[in-house]
Amino acid sequence: MTTELLFRTDAYLKTASAQVVAVDERSIELDRTIFYPTGGGQAGDTGVLLRGNGERIAVVDTRKGEAIDSVLHIAAAATPQPEPGETLTLNIDWQRRYALMRLHTALHVLSCVIVAPVTGGNISPDKARLDFDIDMRLLDAERIERETNALIARGVETETVWITDEELDARPELVKTMSVQPPRGAGRVRLLRIPGIDLQPCGGTHVRNIAEIGGIRVLKIRSEGKRNKRVEIALAS
Ligand SMILES: [Zn+2]
Repeated sequence: MTTELLFRTDAYLKTASAQVVAVDERSIELDRTIFYPTGGGQAGDTGVLLRGNGERIAVVDTRKGEAIDSVLHIAAAATPQPEPGETLTLNIDWQRRYALMRLHTALHVLSCVIVAPVTGGNISPDKARLDFDIDMRLLDAERIERETNALIARGVETETVWITDEELDARPELVKTMSVQPPRGAGRVRLLRIPGIDLQPCGGTHVRNIAEIGGIRVLKIRSEGKRNKRVEIALAS
């Protein structure tokens, strides 16, 4: 079942209504959603689905289903189950999601300060990290923090751009993340552009203006193996 991914066109939607299309023991599928499913290193959304009778279904996680663009809303144990066809009001935990959006966008900026192949990454609500294939001696926390924050201070608007699979194949330099290849097969690939700073394939949720990140702190730099030098960051405030 394909779900219309409302967060792709507007990452700032905090509420929406949708119809239930399938229900099993723990997961609920809807015809449209504002809940981002875990992917591209970004944690899935949490929140609440409200029934017409006022009952609240707590969503503790959101994951991708087996079909392309299918989304499973994982309900807390022992919550009421909705009926297929029922209309629900969707509310995401916006504070948590906004932190994820700020940190996610910060990683795009960070990946332009540390110029090396990206071998991994993860974004949780309180911290985010990228792993690089780089010599440890080239990673200086103070410099990384200063240069990343200087780029954030430019306050540029982010843009979503779509290109065809063929256009992406012709520009392999756009793909910095060795471990996560952009999804293909749909004929087109979504890119995030931060004008003058970054352009890369990404299906995640981002802030409209990088000034919303505010600034970052480097929490930790450590080696996680020969090709994985990990840089962990948090929002400055
Ligand atoms: Zn992104």
